[in-house]
Amino acid sequence: MDIPTVEKTVYAPLIEEDSILLTVTEGCSYGKCAFCDFANDKYTVLPLEWVKENAKYLAAESGDKSSLFLLGQNSLSLPTAHLVKVLEFVKEFFPNVNKVSMYARAEDINSKSEHEMLLLRDFGLRALHMGLESGSDDVLVLMNKGTSAAEFLAACQKLDKLALSYHITTIGGLGGKKLSAVHIEQTAEILNRVNPVSIWQLKLLIWPNTPLAEMRDKGEFIELSPLEVLKEERDLLARLELKNCFFMDTTVLNKYTIMGLLPEAKASMITAMDRLIAGDNF
Ligand code: SF4
Repeated sequence: MDIPTVEKTVYAPLIEEDSILLTVTEGCSYGKCAFCDFANDKYTVLPLEWVKENAKYLAAESGDKSSLFLLGQNSLSLPTAHLVKVLEFVKEFFPNVNKVSMYARAEDINSKSEHEMLLLRDFGLRALHMGLESGSDDVLVLMNKGTSAAEFLAACQKLDKLALSYHITTIGGLGGKKLSAVHIEQTAEILNRVNPVSIWQLKLLIWPNTPLAEMRDKGEFIELSPLEVLKEERDLLARLELKNCFFMDTTVLNKYTIMGLLPEAKASMITAMDRLIAGDNF
């Protein structure tokens, strides 16, 4: 069998940059978020024999890496039996790997039973990467996220109960001018009720040919400036009461990265943001 090649660009979370990347799906099983560049990609499940061949191929060059990320926009959407097979390949070909993670939508987590999630944990699943994007249902509906804040919260609580770790992404400026205040207030509220290992905040980027680009072009969505997004983020960070959570934004003013462990680094990150807001150059 030929070694499968994956033609599309598939992004792993920054925090997984040292992980082995094994592709299991392409596209997203939901594919309807208004802001998402991946929404147009056809959802495809790679055949198990492809995944196995690819695992064999990657094993030869992965050295002694101990973490592996299952690439795909929401790989947890796969049936549990399929994922167990994949995790068996991981055990077979990557004996040094002790942590497997993947992207998941809240509904992927909520629709699996606790027994299924524990089975995946037994086979090596350790962490999930989830896009909250916003804690505001108004923003989530506007963006056609297909998940409410309460459903997201339920997914996190399930993971807490089952001792599975999770990482959360949020999007600065996702409420536009109209929903900016509620976006920050309610995102902070949700984040303060969960226990993520990390929060990766990204500034909204409006991709061409997305429903959000159309909304902006019709004047239905007024985008924030990079400085306004930074002010939002400063407000969000000031409200966070999380412990042992790594906060990171690699898109500050399209130029800077701010990162640190909460709560220890909260004050210094806010100071850095205040200086940028005041116009200091670094
Ligand atoms: S769930 Fe994620 S990958 Fe899927 S369409 Fe929404 S933002 Fe894109």
